[in-house]
Amino acid sequence: MPRSLKRVWRLRALMKQAIDYLQKKDFPEPRLNVELLLAHALHCQRIELYTNVDKPLSTEEIAAFRALLKRRLAFEPVQYILGSAHFMGLQFAVDRRVLIPRPETETLVEQAVFRCNTLTENNMISVLEIGTGSGNVAVSIAKFVKSSIVTSIDNSAQALEVARQNVVNHGVEERVILQHMDVYEPVDQLLRRRFDIIVSNPPYVSINEWEFLRPEVRDYEPREATSDGADGYELYRRLIEIAPYVLNEGGTALFEVGDDMAFTVLSMMHEGGFYDLSSAHDLQGMERVVVGSCRARVRNLVPVN
Ligand code: GLN
Repeated sequence: MPRSLKRVWRLRALMKQAIDYLQKKDFPEPRLNVELLLAHALHCQRIELYTNVDKPLSTEEIAAFRALLKRRLAFEPVQYILGSAHFMGLQFAVDRRVLIPRPETETLVEQAVFRCNTLTENNMISVLEIGTGSGNVAVSIAKFVKSSIVTSIDNSAQALEVARQNVVNHGVEERVILQHMDVYEPVDQLLRRRFDIIVSNPPYVSINEWEFLRPEVRDYEPREATSDGADGYELYRRLIEIAPYVLNEGGTALFEVGDDMAFTVLSMMHEGGFYDLSSAHDLQGMERVVVGSCRARVRNLVPVN
């Protein structure tokens, strides 16, 4: 096409076209998605899109936006495309090595922060997180409870690289210790210390349900961060088993649970000897976090003859 006849794309028109397209394809929140991707492509704030609606866009700007939109159309989550996600009012670097922090996990952090604050004020509170992912939970607790030291383990070395970046970005290197460890290892012996609080948002989607998850989750997020590869309760069994060996006497465990799992997990905790059981709801009104305390146990050391 001769240069003079080439269409001038203005921001408003490009935005409208993209929103209509996402809408037609049934993508949720089309306007928000387009705003985020466009602002990212143009290196500006979302609000600036609306103060520059008549701005003619360069070929490069249009190409940059279209490349991002193409990824979204292939169901890549917008947070991976942007390389960041918001959690507890903080920004976290994310990519395909880690689970994208979910708003409902904020309930877990709020409950953990609340528990930490009820513990004696002057002492340092030791927290163990199992399943670090992007480090969102560990970093948030460290940020909101200044008297906390959080040890966070994950079996994915790749996830820990992302978590390391977030720990550094938020300046909590002194109080967040990341360790490469599998929860099925003898964690009590490897950690060689006990904690006041255990917190975990374990993978709780059963392998059968995982097949039917939205493509954004199933095809992009790490499978081992979302599903336990079994009935969804596998990690709770292990967490309940190890808690008495890693918690201080009367220490508290807080676990995020999937929809309609709270009752079963609380029963499992009861059977495992936990007491003071309670649960907390997320903003959607789902029972999302289970809480319980337990007596510390010591390993029965078998004498060697
Ligand atoms: N701790 C991270 C989160 O809560 C990762 C959890 C996970 O990978 N299951 O989002």
